[in-house]
Amino acid sequence: MIEFEIPKPIANIYYNALQTVAVNMMRPVARYYDVHEHEIPWDYVNFMHMAMSQTGAGSLAPDEKKKVDDQGKERPRLGYQTLAHMLEMLSWGDSGMYLVTPGGGLGAAAVEAAGTPEQKIKFLARFRGPKPTFGAMAMTEPQAGSDTSAIRTTAVLDQATNEWVLNGEKIFVTAGKISLLDSDGLVVVWATIDPSAGRAGMRSFVITAGTPGVQVTKLEHKLGIRASDTASIVLQDARVPFENMLGSAEIVRQPTTKGFKGAMATFDATRPLVAAMAVGVARAALEFLKEELSRRGIEIRYGLPRQKQTNIEREVIDMEIMLRSAWLLVIKAVWMADNRKANSKEASMSKLRAGDVVTKITQRAVEIMGPLGFSQEFLLEKWFRDAKISDIYEGTGQINRLIVARHVLEYTGRDLR
Ligand SMILES: Cc1cc2nc3c(=O)[nH]c(=O)nc-3n(C[C@H](O)[C@H](O)[C@H](O)COP(=O)(O)OP(=O)(O)OC[C@H]3O[C@@H](n4cnc5c(N)ncnc54)[C@H](O)[C@@H]3O)c2cc1C
Repeated sequence: MIEFEIPKPIANIYYNALQTVAVNMMRPVARYYDVHEHEIPWDYVNFMHMAMSQTGAGSLAPDEKKKVDDQGKERPRLGYQTLAHMLEMLSWGDSGMYLVTPGGGLGAAAVEAAGTPEQKIKFLARFRGPKPTFGAMAMTEPQAGSDTSAIRTTAVLDQATNEWVLNGEKIFVTAGKISLLDSDGLVVVWATIDPSAGRAGMRSFVITAGTPGVQVTKLEHKLGIRASDTASIVLQDARVPFENMLGSAEIVRQPTTKGFKGAMATFDATRPLVAAMAVGVARAALEFLKEELSRRGIEIRYGLPRQKQTNIEREVIDMEIMLRSAWLLVIKAVWMADNRKANSKEASMSKLRAGDVVTKITQRAVEIMGPLGFSQEFLLEKWFRDAKISDIYEGTGQINRLIVARHVLEYTGRDLR
């Protein structure tokens, strides 16, 4: 049965602690790292690394089974639903800083979704080491965004050395720099082993920090989430061992869409989490708005018939409904992921709803606050800027709508695009 509230043991161990982190370690420096784009919040990073190691969480990635902490005590399993609660809270603190939380990030999610059991053990161990370590996933290219099957980065097997040789350019890689240059992390790079085969040629490869031929060539200056680095990465004859191609060895030679399905499985896991982050930002803006209204003597009278409420009251209540509906979609999608149910439709639904909701709530809160909403005196204008990315990465709003429509109408990707 779906559980809507945070289970008690999880709330005790993780959630309450993260609230303290969000209030005391993120909010006070959120503006600083927004202004000082690309500066790494090491205090936060080191603290989170230590805290996650002590609780046995290791990284913010789901556990296969129950884990023990430093004292040998068993702790509750970290599933997608728990993660959604945790990410919502950290993003309420600051979504840009959350993206610099040590751990595997999208890179670990891709290994989880597409790797063999041995590859998961080998590559995910990197994120449980003594130093903060990061992971990223590189799909997007200058000519391939929403249409992932258009990627042109190539991977060719050198039979003599049994290594893959990768060439191409990846852009807009979240945590690309910190994964490759500032830690012993990894980037999962999607490439094609046969450019004429479309989706059937797609495979993913683990590129570890320090691999020769891999260069971070650019960092984006962005509208929001400015604490998070967004990098361009050029691969020039970058060589990785044969076993760094995610998935079983037999998918190497035959044309198969298993590689593409691995990419989609990654998104099924991560879209609800991105949606949870969006909900965290929206909640931050809505709570702030209500507090500021309250300071001005405006309280929301929930019990009144709608026609007796003021316009502001109706608007705030509508925002709360939007927020709640987005959160319920997140909960359903992560619950399905935890219970190994196919959740592509629900993952896309949660992502597109949360992307819409966070954009609308932050924008309306800025408007209702008048000039103060536009001022840097408050974080509200920053949340307004941070919000928009939720509707862009991990599939834009339009693409997630297409996915939902295909499921609902039972159309294939070819029928409806
Ligand atoms: C801050 C940031 C971080 C990112 N992080 C990562 C990352 O870590 N890894 C990674 O691989 N990528 C990342 N991205 C890239 C992101 O996933 C892409 O920008 C996104 O998928 C859209 O691709 P595109 O930019 O090429 O836009 P396009 O695909 O060119 O789309 C442009 C517009 O057309 C619309 N559109 C496209 N196709 C259709 C269609 N069939 N029907 C209707 N509308 C359509 C889109 O919705 C969009 O509005 C990041 C981007 C940003 C801005």
